[in-house]
Amino acid sequence: MIIGVPKEVKPDEYRVAMLPVGVEELTRRGHAVVLERGAGVGSGLPDEAYEAVGAKLVDGPEQVFGEADLIVKVKEPQPEEWPLIRPGQTLFTYFHFAACRNLTEAMLERRATSLAYETLSDGSGRLPLLTPMSEVAGRMSVQEGAKYLEKPQMGRGILLGGVPGVAPAYITVLGGGVVGANAARIAAGFGASVSILDINMDRLRYLDDVMPANVTVLFSDRHTIRRQLERADLVIGAVLIPGAKAPMLVEEEDLKRMQPGSVICDVAIDQGGCIATSRPTSHAEPTYIVDDVVHYCVTNMPGAVGRTSTFALCNVTLPWVIQLAQRGVEESMRDLKPIAEAANTHDGAVTNRAVAETFGLEY
Ligand code: NAD
Repeated sequence: MIIGVPKEVKPDEYRVAMLPVGVEELTRRGHAVVLERGAGVGSGLPDEAYEAVGAKLVDGPEQVFGEADLIVKVKEPQPEEWPLIRPGQTLFTYFHFAACRNLTEAMLERRATSLAYETLSDGSGRLPLLTPMSEVAGRMSVQEGAKYLEKPQMGRGILLGGVPGVAPAYITVLGGGVVGANAARIAAGFGASVSILDINMDRLRYLDDVMPANVTVLFSDRHTIRRQLERADLVIGAVLIPGAKAPMLVEEEDLKRMQPGSVICDVAIDQGGCIATSRPTSHAEPTYIVDDVVHYCVTNMPGAVGRTSTFALCNVTLPWVIQLAQRGVEESMRDLKPIAEAANTHDGAVTNRAVAETFGLEY
């Protein structure tokens, strides 16, 4: 099979969908990889590293899309890429179809097979190709929170770990899933006092077992959340209700309980956010202030640490790319349940119920 890797064209996107080791694994199995020149540069991976293991480097996306049977990407195809997609071509990437009707219609019109990272499930309800990005965002939320707690960034002027004789920062994490657990672990490592709130008792029991002593687990209800807001230097929004908008846990009124200069990092912003005053921001302008509280609500946090995110993503996608190449797309969709679940469009039809329902299309 010929596998194509174009350079990502979405603004602020530095990731690439394949590492040199991926090229090596595919070529030694008899497949070919066509990679656009410069595709890995944003992640610190030079063209020579790919060439050395057998990739064919080409000058533009036209050649990648023109030659490949399977396109492997990071972000959903952008409008300038749509005309390049050939009928019957397969794309394996993040799509997030429900967020964009035009993209859905374009993939139907191009008769592309769209295999979406975000719907590939491991059979026990987990989404293994989303997990690494939640791990990155969770860990990064503490790093960003620490930065914006500094006075020159309009924060309270608080050091996360404190120093001997001075109390450390108090951090509240709303939601103890992948993002929340990763945030709590890093915050605890800094020496901060951390509380994780969740509504899932089994999850709270698990977190209580595995977290260090400076992390407390609390049941999430309105009273507890309000008390936390009064204490917290940093609030991290990390809740998710699968397939739905994030639940609103902090109302505008509640914000007044927070101390001036405290920071909110609403990681759940990509699902609408869990704080009433959150609105999406970008890496170029990541923060704004409401009621003296600094808000950081970047929707694609992993993009800022492109190199780490590239490695984290490729580690989990490569085994599936190899399966697709070895078995072929049709057989993989038939025999591998996770790949069948990843299929969102095929041969001009929507093959994911949620996407079809979102746009009132036939399923
Ligand atoms: P997850 O499913 O692993 O965890 C979500 C947790 O929220 C669950 O434990 C759930 O029980 C809990 N929860 C639900 N309702 C709650 C409530 N009312 N109070 C407290 N907890 C509640 O999800 P995740 O992978 O940790 O992702 C969290 C959010 O972060 C998602 O919205 C995801 O899309 C987002 N995310 C954003 C970025 C970014 O760049 N901004 C990157 C990755 C993930």
